[in-house]
Amino acid sequence: MTLVDVINLFDTDEKCREILVRLRWPNGVECVRCKMPAVELETEKQLFYCRDCNYQFTVTAGTIFNDSHLPLQKWFLATLLLCEARKGMSANQIKRTIWGQHKGSYKTAWYLCHRIRAAMKEVDQPMLDGTVEMDETYVGGKNRGGGQGARLANKEVVIGLRQRNGDLRFFHAEDAKSGTLMKYIQENVSTDVEVLITDSFPAYKHAVGNAEHKTVNHVAGEYVRYENGACVTTNTVESAFSLLKRGIMGSWHKISAKHLPAYLDEMTFRFNRRKSANLFLDTLRHMVTAPVLTFDKLTG
Ligand SMILES: [Zn+2]
Repeated sequence: MTLVDVINLFDTDEKCREILVRLRWPNGVECVRCKMPAVELETEKQLFYCRDCNYQFTVTAGTIFNDSHLPLQKWFLATLLLCEARKGMSANQIKRTIWGQHKGSYKTAWYLCHRIRAAMKEVDQPMLDGTVEMDETYVGGKNRGGGQGARLANKEVVIGLRQRNGDLRFFHAEDAKSGTLMKYIQENVSTDVEVLITDSFPAYKHAVGNAEHKTVNHVAGEYVRYENGACVTTNTVESAFSLLKRGIMGSWHKISAKHLPAYLDEMTFRFNRRKSANLFLDTLRHMVTAPVLTFDKLTG
């Protein structure tokens, strides 16, 4: 789906609603209150009616689109832009691209982006298996002088896990201590994992538990090693980190610790679907099925 496709295919509110109905209820419209099959009440307003509980609703009821006064086409355009920007796109850029330099408000664009991002949060993900790479990195904060400890003190820890030829996950962690690393391994990596590869950071040694563990010694300049034909490296998770960092530097500028998890969700959602032809529709599907994000919740 290209920007031109979105402009041509979804040029009216009605057409936008039609696709949302199909994505939200692939097996027929059901009541948002009691889940019973519902009927269309008024084709023009695309209002649905439940005969069981007398409830009337539209396709955006109870979704992140709810209470939005923006035309759906604006939502669709912003979604496409966020899907296609590999390193992400700032709310300011979205505002300028969709509304223009002097129109629209930054706040509207910012809230819009955050709601789309909230829909990109994955739930019930399967455990990672096979060869899994794990690494940690530091983002945000200012590079002040001092030793390494002082430089890292005001930065946020991001833990990355990536199944070789599979999914990527990022987490905003409290720290990179052994117990913290262990928690992320236990929550995301199958106990049957073939091998877990990390760098030689000592905290991993205890964190991996009984899993097969191999390390590459970055301090000694080692990045890739071959063992019995198997490639021992953390390069694939590190390449995802560099994309994240370029995103933070280039498009988001400054991310507060509070919103970092949402940016990480956006990044991994897009990354894990980068070869999918359905990224845009998949995102829309999440937008009509994900929990609602209110402005109060976002700013509270
Ligand atoms: Zn009902």
